[in-house]
Amino acid sequence: MVLFPSLCLVLATGAIATGVLTDSHTISETCEVIAAAVSSASAVHYSGPSYEEGIRHWASSSTERARCSFEPGTPSDVGIALQILGKNRVPFAVKGGGHTLNPGFSSTIGVQIVMSRFSEIVYDPESRTVTVGAGVIWDDVYTALEPHGVNVVGGRVSGIGVAGFTLGGGYSWLTNQYGLALDNVESFELVLPDGAVIDVTESSHPDLFFGLRGGYDNFGIVTKFILKTHPQGQIWGGVIIYPEASVDQVIRATADFSANNSDPKAQVIMTTNYAAGNHLVVTILFYDNPDPVPGVFDTFLDIPALIRDIKTRSFLSLVLATSSWPETDSLGIFATVTVTEYSADLIEAAINESIHWGQTLLPFSGVFISYDFSPVMPAALGYSSAPSAWPPTHKDVVMPIVLYFAWISELSDGMMHDGVRQSASTLLDKAVSLGQDVKDAPLYSNCALFDTPLERMYGNNVERLRKIKNHVDPYNVMNLAGGFKF
Ligand SMILES: Cc1cc2nc3c(=O)[nH]c(=O)nc-3n(C[C@H](O)[C@H](O)[C@H](O)COP(=O)(O)OP(=O)(O)OC[C@H]3O[C@@H](n4cnc5c(N)ncnc54)[C@H](O)[C@@H]3O)c2cc1C
Repeated sequence: MVLFPSLCLVLATGAIATGVLTDSHTISETCEVIAAAVSSASAVHYSGPSYEEGIRHWASSSTERARCSFEPGTPSDVGIALQILGKNRVPFAVKGGGHTLNPGFSSTIGVQIVMSRFSEIVYDPESRTVTVGAGVIWDDVYTALEPHGVNVVGGRVSGIGVAGFTLGGGYSWLTNQYGLALDNVESFELVLPDGAVIDVTESSHPDLFFGLRGGYDNFGIVTKFILKTHPQGQIWGGVIIYPEASVDQVIRATADFSANNSDPKAQVIMTTNYAAGNHLVVTILFYDNPDPVPGVFDTFLDIPALIRDIKTRSFLSLVLATSSWPETDSLGIFATVTVTEYSADLIEAAINESIHWGQTLLPFSGVFISYDFSPVMPAALGYSSAPSAWPPTHKDVVMPIVLYFAWISELSDGMMHDGVRQSASTLLDKAVSLGQDVKDAPLYSNCALFDTPLERMYGNNVERLRKIKNHVDPYNVMNLAGGFKF
């Protein structure tokens, strides 16, 4: 069951942004130079299963045929590669979990850097932190921490990479209690563009600590995270799928929960999905205790449902129940709108949009159209006292609506990109017409379309981020990789 290709959940061509035109001979030579220069802990692949796995992404539209895949095994080998890539001006990309939907962000026709050999997960009960390699997915972290009765602020569905999720923000099932994933980083091990390896903490490198929390690979490549952990026992929750006849009730329940929930242990995701001619509304309920406080979810539980898989379970079990790898090799894109309130009128508008675009795009190989709402309590985003690149302001709660369009034929790429852009704009206009002051509200970069202007995501932080970037990367090595670049 592919529930959540869309969640930024239950949910984006070439090196789009690099503008690098290195010839294929130079790229091939660079692969060979890297292979010769690095230690035996690392490997370079040109074909075969390791190469295919290395370039593979969650959406096939994000997969590119890199000239080689490079699996570094040590931070110093990452540094050696960055120096060679910088000197030869060869395009590259860094892949963590490979879940970005923006083509060219963690994929390339040049050198694909695959972080999978950075796989350590080591819990320290004394500091109550966990050291996590940058090639790990959240599922593995949850699995390793479960026996210790602790957890981290990480992905809500199976398969998402720790690296991109954390370096971009990170809305989790625990966000109401402990903020975003980036609020829970104690330190980063960072390989700078000149090859130096440093530990970045709030006190050691305040500027880089600010920049890395939202700024991806602009300042170098992260090889390791030290994350705060929090006590974790059994939880309660799961998926409910509703029939069309229940849609109005689900709209009211979601709007009510969003406006009135005051229990940080309770979280909900509501998605409106159109697939193969059918419209389905799905919710995932989460409570951070084996039993929810009575009444918290009554409005959802009282609604007639088609399928209800709710129970007391482990945190990992809930994440695995919403397995995210698509069953088909589909192409996909995210777009997002930021609002401050999930009102019933706004949710209804998104439902109408999902049906409209589902029907409109079905003849053009559109297979799955989905919009997600995940209410967050206002206090959640002020969890960390240290400023971060994203969000640029804590003035209002930042709640994304995430739009996910999936399709099969590359011939439809332009149509899908135009459609998702148009729909996001329609929803933003709707929120504004409903009185929300969100015209310039910061968009969530992990779900923002590839050509979103930096100012729409990072607001007034852009200038500071550019200065930090220029300081650590005067030769623009990191701009040889795609993505949002300062
Ligand atoms: C099915 C699905 C569910 C999702 N659910 C959620 C959710 O619940 N909450 C949420 O907040 N978001 C969610 N997202 C969005 C997700 O957070 C982003 O797609 C995120 O960037 C994925 O991280 P990754 O490591 O898997 O991605 P990748 O594609 O590997 O990388 C994403 C970005 O991070 C950079 N990067 C990767 N590794 C490094 C590194 N070591 N050093 C420096 N830069 C690096 C890449 O260059 C790229 O720009 C979801 C996405 C999908 C597809």
